[in-house]
Amino acid sequence: MAREVAKSENHTSPKPSPSPSPLRFSKFFQSNMRILVTGGAGFIGSHLVDKLMENEKNEVIVADNYFTGSKDNLKKWIGHPRFELIRHDVTEPLLVEVDQIYHLACPASPIFYKYNPVKTIKTNVIGTLNMLGLAKRVGARILLTSTSEVYGDPLVHPQDESYWGNVNPIGVRSCYDEGKRVAETLMFDYHRQHGIEIRVARIFNTYGPRMNIDDGRVVSNFIAQAIRDEPLTVQAPGTQTRSFCYVSDMVDGLIRLMDGDHTGPINIGNPGHDAAPFQ
Ligand code: NAD
Ligand code: UDP
Repeated sequence: MAREVAKSENHTSPKPSPSPSPLRFSKFFQSNMRILVTGGAGFIGSHLVDKLMENEKNEVIVADNYFTGSKDNLKKWIGHPRFELIRHDVTEPLLVEVDQIYHLACPASPIFYKYNPVKTIKTNVIGTLNMLGLAKRVGARILLTSTSEVYGDPLVHPQDESYWGNVNPIGVRSCYDEGKRVAETLMFDYHRQHGIEIRVARIFNTYGPRMNIDDGRVVSNFIAQAIRDEPLTVQAPGTQTRSFCYVSDMVDGLIRLMDGDHTGPINIGNPGHDAAPFQ
């Protein structure tokens, strides 16, 4: 669905990017691409890890505090020589040497991000600041998984990336919506001020294997109700729509954004809005 507002040229930074490790350019040492995935034990993160690990030139480091993610999602990689799993909370500084950072760490479903809203804000703001500080120190390119929720309760349909949104700064969802908005601001300020190479994806509703069955969202609710042989709960049937994207398509989009030339922000989702009785 992506129509990009701002090409990287519109955000040209006053400084050149910091240099990556000199080994990257050595004629004698063929280093792998070292990739950090924060939140890599979660739903989208673990599929991203699977895809990145398919490339034998990639080494993948996952940093996750297991709040909503699980080692189980990564069990096939544990012990693999190109894979490393670190129990780490991104609100604390992290010292690793990497070439790329996919920064996903953050609970995505309202049930979980409202559970400890102050922690959700810290994860979005301090966590993103730390990952940007890391990117700055090592000269890594960093991609943030932002969200369609930055558009809030939109007054414009559909929302393209030029829309600034309609967000309640004091509501119960603000820890997530406003947290992600500040995270985006930090990304662009580090880009302009320090020359960091950034990528910002605004993710729409994603579904697929390893979704948390109790996350309270529409696809998992329907599946859970079907498995439990319960009637499907329907609010205002036929009046609401959602854009759904299968997780493998989401992962392809994230990798293409990371490896491409545009900073974003870019919407990644399904361009069709599936009309259905969603809550
Ligand atoms: P998820 O909850 O399955 O994964 C998030 C991961 O981050 C989990 O493994 C969790 O343990 C980890 N985490 C949370 N707080 C952390 C912290 N402070 N330090 C370290 N790790 C932490 O969610 P997901 O659906 O895989 O979402 C991944 C990213 O995509 C999130 O940034 C989310 O905001 C974004 N996103 C997802 C959707 C969607 O439909 N799933 C939609 C929009 C945006
Ligand atoms: N940081 C980190 N890992 C690093 C470098 C920095 O986690 O390898 C954190 C650091 O602790 C700081 C944040 O990133 O809190 C921002 O770093 P930056 O260098 O931009 O800011 P400063 O430390 O100068 O305030």
